[in-house]
Amino acid sequence: MTSVRAPVEHIFTVDVEEYFHVGAFESVVSRKDWSSYPSRIDGSIDLLLDLLARHGATGTFFTLGWVADHHPRVVRRIAQAGHEIASHGYWHRRVDSLAPEEFRQDLRASKAVLEDVCGARVSGFRAPNFSIRPGCEWAFDVLLEEGFHYDSSLFPIRRPGYGYRAAPVVPHIIRRASGALCELPLATTGWHGARIPAAGGAYLRHFPFSIIRRCLREHTDSGIPATFYLHPWELDPDQPRLPVGWVTRARHYGGLARTRPRLEQLLAEFRFTSAARCLKLPSPAPRTLSARVSNADD
Ligand SMILES: [Zn+2]
Repeated sequence: MTSVRAPVEHIFTVDVEEYFHVGAFESVVSRKDWSSYPSRIDGSIDLLLDLLARHGATGTFFTLGWVADHHPRVVRRIAQAGHEIASHGYWHRRVDSLAPEEFRQDLRASKAVLEDVCGARVSGFRAPNFSIRPGCEWAFDVLLEEGFHYDSSLFPIRRPGYGYRAAPVVPHIIRRASGALCELPLATTGWHGARIPAAGGAYLRHFPFSIIRRCLREHTDSGIPATFYLHPWELDPDQPRLPVGWVTRARHYGGLARTRPRLEQLLAEFRFTSAARCLKLPSPAPRTLSARVSNADD
């Protein structure tokens, strides 16, 4: 007798940040000036929430603490639409640029404001620029000590700037002295004997679409969820242009108009859910909402 298996649900994730938070712009945008740039996050998040709702998908939104502080209503809207809020740090600082205690302080600040704004426990983390690299394993201890259940920062590829080549390519448990942390690595696929990134983001815009789709099909066939990611600014072709060199310009602005149609195709073909649902984490207990949601100048 043939058994019928429910199609695997892949993990849909969003790194919630503005176009001016991007790590590649750090040389031209100072953190202290962030508030002076025009915000574009409202429209992109609305578009994304609408796309996900139309396809019956839910996701995990790894959100900057800074965004929650400055745009609490946006974060609240995401949570009210049934999606999971998780942490992307507060100041979008690379983990491999921080000492453990600096990382802890940034992590705590993000968790506090996100939980305050969305009224639910935050239990997942994604490092800015996937910056938990070999040598940064201490970050897993800090995450466990600060009450996190899972991480989604490891990209099992070799690439300048990020990548943890030796990480397993499937969801797995990281065991540390302080406990066990679930790890949801970003999706990759094989290509002529090499392992290449196929998790979304810039790869969704710059790679042939067939590679991304093949990666998700492979994961579907093997019954293993793939972790996919996107940034709100990737759905915003009209975002202000910043004065950066041609390589950064090509990487950041190239193919922005392709994001939406390609995303719609993926949402139509595959099933997506949040990390918390995939990991069957208990539903977060509602917390008392902060007055900042109703009072903030948002
Ligand atoms: Zn980021």
